[in-house]
Amino acid sequence: MEKNHHEIQHLTAADFRRDPFEKVILPIGSLESHGDHLPFGTDSLTAYLLALEVAQRVPNTAVLPPLPYGMSEAYKEFPLTVSLRPETETAIIGDILESLHREGIKKVFILNGHDGNIASIEMASRTVKAAHPGMKIVSLDAWWNTLGQLLPPDFFEVWNGLGHGGEGELSIGLALFPELCEPGLARGVVPRLPPYVDVKWMFSELTDCGATGDPTKATKEKGVRIKEALVDAIVGVITSLDESGWDFRSPEVKGVDSRNRR
Ligand SMILES: [Zn+2]
Repeated sequence: MEKNHHEIQHLTAADFRRDPFEKVILPIGSLESHGDHLPFGTDSLTAYLLALEVAQRVPNTAVLPPLPYGMSEAYKEFPLTVSLRPETETAIIGDILESLHREGIKKVFILNGHDGNIASIEMASRTVKAAHPGMKIVSLDAWWNTLGQLLPPDFFEVWNGLGHGGEGELSIGLALFPELCEPGLARGVVPRLPPYVDVKWMFSELTDCGATGDPTKATKEKGVRIKEALVDAIVGVITSLDESGWDFRSPEVKGVDSRNRR
């Protein structure tokens, strides 16, 4: 196996002494059906491989092993689902963040690959942040929802590319791990969901095949563009955070603060 200096799993204590990093990316995934066309580990693989590409382009950044399980209760009617309870996942993410704080790593980018994890990420991050205000924690909770801002309006053919195992997710899979994808078996259903509100569904209420959206419209070319847009966007965010010292106050606000202190 070839050593990747951005993968913390590969590093030795000597590596870390010689070349310490101050920022980490924590990829979080799931183990659940993504239809017949994508692997059970799609969400972990996607988050991890994106994170590795980002880490190559920003200094002093390394990637934690991906959390390969998530909160997948809504998907459990489709095999093969191995799920964490929300409180378990919140505790795991919280323990990881606490460990990073103890190790002196105070800047964390959480790259999430699965919708069911969002609430646990929020609970754990807010709890650790309140306990350690010096920690800087940012998360990309739903990369699939950012694509509308990153790609042309007509980029996707169906449902803005959305869906669990849909046009966007199979496309990025074809770009990142084509050997594991079966585009010939692609099938999905576009559900009738109301606007503005968040329906608390079991996945079987939306689809009979373990996938939503229209993966038959997925292509590797789309996936490469999605991947590049996401990596560029995340690199841009981390670079600008580094330039500002991860200080979120604008200079004007800082001025007001210092006046107030006098
Ligand atoms: Zn997924």
